[in-house]
Amino acid sequence: MIPVLVLNSGSSSIKYQLLDMADRARLATGVVERIGEAGGAVADHAAGMRQVLAELEGNLDRGALAAVGHRVVHGGDRFRGPTLIDDEVCDAIRDLIPLAPLHNPANLTLIEAARATFPDTPQVAVFDTAFHQTLPAPAHTYAVPAAWRDELGVRRYGFHGTSHQYVSRRAAALLGRRPEEVNVIVLHLGNGASVCAVRDGQSVDTSMGLTPLEGLIMGTRSGDLDPAVPAYITRRTGQSAEEIDRTLNTASGLLALAGSNDMRDVEAAAGKGDEGARLALDAYCYRIRKYIGAYLAALGRVDAVVFTAGVGENSAAVRAGAVAGLEHLGISVSPKRNVAESKEERYISPYWAQTAVLVVPTDEEIEIADQALAAVG
Ligand code: ADP
Repeated sequence: MIPVLVLNSGSSSIKYQLLDMADRARLATGVVERIGEAGGAVADHAAGMRQVLAELEGNLDRGALAAVGHRVVHGGDRFRGPTLIDDEVCDAIRDLIPLAPLHNPANLTLIEAARATFPDTPQVAVFDTAFHQTLPAPAHTYAVPAAWRDELGVRRYGFHGTSHQYVSRRAAALLGRRPEEVNVIVLHLGNGASVCAVRDGQSVDTSMGLTPLEGLIMGTRSGDLDPAVPAYITRRTGQSAEEIDRTLNTASGLLALAGSNDMRDVEAAAGKGDEGARLALDAYCYRIRKYIGAYLAALGRVDAVVFTAGVGENSAAVRAGAVAGLEHLGISVSPKRNVAESKEERYISPYWAQTAVLVVPTDEEIEIADQALAAVG
């Protein structure tokens, strides 16, 4: 047994998985919700941690735990890989709060609760941004004043790094090649969504930016838009920067166009002839297609386009729509393979295709556990 506990905290929830990395098996998984909410039973993340322990009772021998792996959203440009947590690392995560004001405080509170609970177990931070620290300067630079870049840290960081890293490595395995010798475009399409261009196993561009708002159309996020839109809305309505930021993050995307942030609802409504839902689906796929084109240009040679996460793994309609019209660039899906139901890693391109199109279910927890063990040594 090599038990590893993986913790992933939101502002009001803790998701956990206990894995036995000796045979890569899941021993227990669960979620503690409504932390700190009025009327909720769980007062704070420390109480949430006690509930996780209670739920793991019987599965977990505390002394035997090899590592605790923490998903941390923002590592800024300080963290390029999994990092053993000490007081200094906690301070650095605290320093990065301005870049991730909702996520990093929640991650930090849970780290502190877990350190108190497992004082003798190594704790490792695995950052959502770390995989993208290999982006070359032309890809991560925004053309803004030096004071914003140098003093305020305004640049592209990118997110979903753990997923992009795991999925690009699995894609290489599926192609029968080593990760260092393949170029892939990974489409992580979940509630949040992002694209990553991977060259020779390293992230060289990604669609999320300073924050997770940039890039693809998502469940509730707008993705790309003219940066002048917020100022325009303020002038017209008097709304504050905070209000507009909240609207673009939580009341835009599929939700704004189709009335639901769940792609299953959008597809069902589009199927019944709902025009808003049809437009939402078309715009969602069109945005992905534009990014595939952009990253083909960024990479020059692409061995595979890979779909992952809730929508990418399950929606044949989105996969077909995303690559529609790209046949002349060597990218297409086989209609039959694309609609075949499966939970496995698989090819969905035709056998004669120049570029493979793959579906690879993501597994961020196993990647976090692997990286945590690597950091422990
Ligand atoms: P998260 O980003 O929260 O981890 P997931 O990767 O689980 O999200 O993706 C969640 C989304 O996946 C849901 O909002 C839903 O739109 C989509 N999804 C799940 N199953 C299907 C399906 N069968 N068809 C289309 N979309 C699906």
